Amino acid sequence: MAEVLVYVDHADGAVRKPTLELLTIARRLGDPVAVALGAGAEATAATLAEHGAVKVLVSEAAEYADYLVVPKVDALQAAVEAVSPVAVLVPSAAEAKEIAARLAVRIGSGLITDAVDLEADAEGPIATQAVFAASYTTRSRVSTGVPVITVKPNSAPVEAAAAAGAVEQLSVSFGEKSTGTKVLSRTPRESTGRPELTEAAIVVSGGRGVNGAENFPLIEALADSLGAAVGASRAAVDAGWYPHTNQVGQTGKSVSPQLYIANGISGAIQHRAGMQTSKTIVAVNKDAEAPIFELVDYGVVGDLFTVVPQLTDEVKARKG
Ligand code: FAD
Repeated sequence: MAEVLVYVDHADGAVRKPTLELLTIARRLGDPVAVALGAGAEATAATLAEHGAVKVLVSEAAEYADYLVVPKVDALQAAVEAVSPVAVLVPSAAEAKEIAARLAVRIGSGLITDAVDLEADAEGPIATQAVFAASYTTRSRVSTGVPVITVKPNSAPVEAAAAAGAVEQLSVSFGEKSTGTKVLSRTPRESTGRPELTEAAIVVSGGRGVNGAENFPLIEALADSLGAAVGASRAAVDAGWYPHTNQVGQTGKSVSPQLYIANGISGAIQHRAGMQTSKTIVAVNKDAEAPIFELVDYGVVGDLFTVVPQLTDEVKARKG
């Protein structure tokens, strides 16, 4: 059966959820062969095998951590040459997208980014994308080379599918260009204990209607009751009420969770661009004419300071 390369996003061996979703998608196209790089790469194998990886190519060279993306591109190129896959799938995250783009140039292939679905086809996988602030859905196929496709988180369920997951060392040689940009230091952001915004199954966001940093704990409490990540509109982050890293939208992060709850957000086109592909959208807004209500599955016309605490209490009560 044809083999499909899956680039593994992991933190010291802990595989991130979007990679497991990619394995679900990869199985539609062929046998998934995972590529895990850096410290802890080998430790990913058990999880990857449980989710359908027939093989796990690993390389734990120090270069992946010591230099910016190029060594990882070298490794993926080596994997493409070793396996001759029908496609290379990469999670749609900032660094991974850069790796995918560089790889596509290296191997002379076409690239599709931010797919939300993939289907198998005799002439090559067909990718679905939501474009122009999700006002259009496109279906595309790479017509040159081995398709390199990045897939947005939450585009498929995580499914258990036991496979061999045989670990093989990937031989990679790094050229002078690979080590052109050295990482000097790393300072991890303080953890909030909440899921990563772009990967979360549920996102609870606050906008200008939250009316001050001091009121954001209201949004956080609802998020915590649901195990959700917290997002914010640009108006809220520009006002300094919430960190820029949490901005959702055209110039912020693009999210596609199962559930998106927008509180005090009007629904400007630039905000929609980052959340419109969410599966279920709920909005709380006191203005019944707010544009956000055009795209919601459930809308509550009301004051968020009344609605949100009630919702939080109700969620907690139902969880017992
Ligand atoms: P507003 O539009 O002011 O809406 C606030 C809403 O809160 C209103 O609908 C109001 O009825 C409601 N409200 C007020 N009080 C309450 C209450 N007590 N209870 C319930 N509802 C209440 N924006 C983004 O979000 N992300 C981006 O990435 C982004 N990128 C941009 C890029 C460019 C180039 C430009 C020009 C703009 C960008 N914007 C972006 C800004 C965008 O155009 C909007 O200005 C912004 O999204 C508005 O944020 P908001 O909905 O929180 O505020």
